[in-house]
Amino acid sequence: MTKLDSIHTDNKKRANDYVHEVYELVKKRNPDEKEFLQATREIFDSLRPVFAQHPEYITNGILERITEPERIITFRVAWEDDQGKVHVNRGFRVQFNSDLGPYKGGIRFHPSVNASIMKFLAFEQIFKNSLTGQPIGAGKGGSDFDPKGKSDREIMRFTQSFITELSKYIGPDRDVPAGDIGVGKREIGYMFGQYNRLKGGYEAGVFTGKDPNHGGSLGRKEATGYGTVYFVEEMLKVKNESFDGQTVIVSGSGNVSIYAMEKAMQLGAKVVACSDSGGYIYDENGINLDTVKRLKEVENKRISEYTKEHLQAEYHDDCSAIWSIPCDIALPCATQNEIDEIAARMLVANSVKAIGEGANMPCTLEAMALFQENGVLFGPAKAANAGGVAVSAMEMSQNSMRLSWTAEEVDEKLHLVMKNIYTSCVDAADRFGHPGNLVMGANIAGFLKVADAMVAHGLS
Ligand code: GLU
Repeated sequence: MTKLDSIHTDNKKRANDYVHEVYELVKKRNPDEKEFLQATREIFDSLRPVFAQHPEYITNGILERITEPERIITFRVAWEDDQGKVHVNRGFRVQFNSDLGPYKGGIRFHPSVNASIMKFLAFEQIFKNSLTGQPIGAGKGGSDFDPKGKSDREIMRFTQSFITELSKYIGPDRDVPAGDIGVGKREIGYMFGQYNRLKGGYEAGVFTGKDPNHGGSLGRKEATGYGTVYFVEEMLKVKNESFDGQTVIVSGSGNVSIYAMEKAMQLGAKVVACSDSGGYIYDENGINLDTVKRLKEVENKRISEYTKEHLQAEYHDDCSAIWSIPCDIALPCATQNEIDEIAARMLVANSVKAIGEGANMPCTLEAMALFQENGVLFGPAKAANAGGVAVSAMEMSQNSMRLSWTAEEVDEKLHLVMKNIYTSCVDAADRFGHPGNLVMGANIAGFLKVADAMVAHGLS
């Protein structure tokens, strides 16, 4: 062994020991946080080659620091339903990292919300927001409030109560929330109104995802779904392929899913299935998107209603079975861990060519490994779904400049951001010895920018 070889081996060992040690620490400190540990595990595995080349990140304790949120706010949200009954929910805001800009990330209203889900989402946001190349830090918030079946007035009262407490901790240069599952422009509108009432002024840039008629950006609603398809389009080029003529499955039927379907269809794909929390629809003729949009965006109905208007379509009340339908491209756009090992095996057996994660962490670690082992192109969430937060950052810019860009201008910028993210992932994967591995590429490229800022800003 030459002297150089032995230095490399030493560095590699030191890096592996460091990653192992810190992971044990994170596990000990957050023993019950399954999703948060899953997200950290994936990042840690990707970063080994980085620490072997950059010992300064070890001496600066970057991994210990980056896995501990700067601040977590937990609060009581009391509200009254239409019958006058009092309810109490739990509110959260995880302000994870502010080295690149104000905390930025959505708010989720869903009964599954807890500290682990909030922390995994905010942690993912660190790398995702960094990848966009925009000046935004990372946060996430939410509540275990279930918006399903609530009246508009109940949603308003809950949201006002939620933001009355959270307003103490956010602001256009401090922390800028947006939507996520269960939070769309209606909820953002109520939050924005209540925040401004409390502050006694109009602070346009405190939320993103606002209605484009009232301070929001054109193209924000479409951005996550379109962005995911733009990213997958870049991935497909490696195999000299495109969306044209491909059979696609998109889980979910919220914002992300609807606009992923729309863009995939515009690019010539046939989307045959989508879902909601009750089940999935399969339409071999190709999903009629106008029907889905009307059912979900206007009438607030279940996806099962689709089959009443399209008699050839099937409805199955088992969401996870959506992945048994043969397809060329699968875009999981519903929620975390929706593709497990079993689902991944079905997709691989049906010769799926590409996966693009529109939701946050929709594939388990086992599913992800299976796709990679079988040569399936894999676009990880923090890269593939970064289009939403990227256009949020554009909304912040427009609010600061007090002007608004056209939908075409926003879409052009979004397309460029997604292409740049793809290139950064490919370059980072190459540079650290794992060519073609976009999971490692995304984690490393996202990490490097934040890690450098953390070194530059000193211990915190
Ligand atoms: N909730 C979205 C995400 O997961 C968007 C966040 C934002 O626009 O701030 O990235």
